[in-house]
Parts: sequence; structure tokens; C-alpha cells
Amino acid sequence: MNGRLVAALESGGTKMVAALSRGPGEVLAHAKIPTTNPEETIRNLVEFFERAQSSHGNAEALAIGTFGPADLDEKSATYGFITSTPKPDWAQTNLLGPLRGAIGDVPVVFETDVNAALFGEARWGAAKGLKHAAYFTVGTGIGGGLMINGSLVHGSGHPEMGHMRVTRHPEDDFEGVCSFHQDCLEGLASGPAIEKRWGRKAEELPSNHPAWILEAHYLAQACVNVLTIAPVEKIILGGGVMNQRQLFPIVREELVGLVNGYLQLPNSGELIVVPELGDHAGLLGCVALGQDPTHRRMVRS
Ligand code: ADP
Ligand code: ZN
Repeated sequence: MNGRLVAALESGGTKMVAALSRGPGEVLAHAKIPTTNPEETIRNLVEFFERAQSSHGNAEALAIGTFGPADLDEKSATYGFITSTPKPDWAQTNLLGPLRGAIGDVPVVFETDVNAALFGEARWGAAKGLKHAAYFTVGTGIGGGLMINGSLVHGSGHPEMGHMRVTRHPEDDFEGVCSFHQDCLEGLASGPAIEKRWGRKAEELPSNHPAWILEAHYLAQACVNVLTIAPVEKIILGGGVMNQRQLFPIVREELVGLVNGYLQLPNSGELIVVPELGDHAGLLGCVALGQDPTHRRMVRS
């Protein structure tokens, strides 16, 4: 069944992936645009959407899933801005405004990249049909998204689950790489943390390397922390580092040990899962959000 035509943008620190789409298999126009300086990047995006609309018709919604931190508060004067990012030139950039200008007066969704990916997985992927789920992306940074009752969670800002505190592994004396907190989850378990701790890129370490024991130790804690706050039905672990599939059984085992029978959990193999939409989760998530722009207010019983 055809959904609404959505102008979708997965806005990443390295590249922008833009599309005019109605859902999986219905991508009418698609572009990958390198993330350079804001002026050039946004100009290229505006041109793409204008061209795509003149060939395929006007979008009925605009949905953006972006790196951050970003201002998601519709009432804020800087709604739609990338805010305090350390990414050079991008702090306080109005991303939504120029794109809204190009697309016209349609419903808008402005979300975090990882919340968008989670929403995509909940519509078409690993969390299909579920109302309560979480998603961590473990890559250059660690991002986390949370969905409760079918709605993506926001508060005074958006969740920053990548920066939660974790307890050190007794054999880990690495100082951590987070420029704000040093040894938060991202500081100890992101791809750059693995690389700096072991002096080799994460993808070059063998699958039986002790790096993965430490990695699983931190990821299992992150999952338990989420479960104690929000009893989700699935936690999806994605991002470059999770290509190390041997991590999954170790994370599950550690998690069961940490919980120690206290929480009622689904089978850990069903609880901690890989993304099903892979690299497409973010963009498809934007399409799903654009087709359901009231997702935040909707309560589905
Ligand atoms: P980004 O976070 O920049 O969007 P990725 O999710 O691919 O992109 O994350 C990049 C990080 O993941 C790097 O630190 C890289 O070393 C690590 N990485 C990429 N592929 C693998 C792999 N196969 N195994 C382990 N780590 C990987
Ligand atoms: Zn941090």
C-alpha cells in the first residue's frame, strides 16, 4: 500500500542521505551528499529536493533524522537547529529552515538520527509491531533512542544514552575518549575508544581479542540501565562496531548475569538483536516518521 510521499533526510556528520520516498522499495529519488560546510551542504540538499519534486511531484511531509545535539522543541526559537556540536562550523546551524523553504508548507518531523532509525525498525524491521523498544548505534560515537508506547521519547531535550555512566571493567585502565566526560559509555566503548585503547582500528582486531570482552561488559551495562528505566521489549544494537557479531552472545550473557533474576525479561536472544534494515534504517525511519507526523502525541493502546 502506498504511503504519503516524504522528503526524507538522514543527516550525518560524514554524509547526508536524502530521498523522496513512500517506503521500502518505493524510492523515487535518492542522493548521497558529503557533509562539508553547512552552506554548501544545505545548498546541495535544497537543489536535490527541488529537482526531485519537479520530476516526481511534491512531498506531502518533510522528515529529518539528524546528528546532534539538535533542538527538537517545536516551541523553541532555534527549533530545527544543530546546536552545540563540536563538529567544526556546524554549531548553531539552521538545518530545517532552508529545507522547509524548499519543500513548502507540509507537516514536518525533526528527530535525532538514532530515534529515526529506531522508528524505522519499529515500522519495518527488527522491532516491527512493538510499542517499547530501544536502539543503540555504536560507531564513531554512541547514540541511543527510546520508544515507549509507540512514541519516541523526548523531554527537555532528547535522550543522550551514549553518555550514560558505566562501571569500569576491573582490567580496564583506559582513560576514555569522550571530550565531555572521558569515561562515559561513549568514552569507553565507541569505535575510537577501542582504537585508542588497543592501538588498532576496531575492525582490524581478531574476533577472539580481549577487546570484545570489555566492549560487551560496557554494552551489557548500557542495556541493563535502559531496562531498569524503561522496560522495553527489544534493544537493537547497530553501528559499525556491531559488525562484530561475536559481541551479541557475550552481551546477552553479561546482561543476564547483571540482572541476576531481578527483572522479568524476554529471552535474551530475542531481547538484544541486530537491526534488520541495516544502513537503511535512518532514512526509512524518516519516511515512516513523515507518514506519521503526529507520532509524539499519539498514544497507541
Ligand atoms: P559513523 O558512526 O561514523 O556513522 P560507523 O557506524 O561505521 O559510522 O562507525 C564507525 C566506527 O566503527 C569506527 O570507529 C570503526 O573503527 C568502527 N567499525 C566499522 N566497521 C567495523 C567492524 N567491522 N568491526 C569493528 N568496528 C568497526
Ligand atoms: Zn560522554
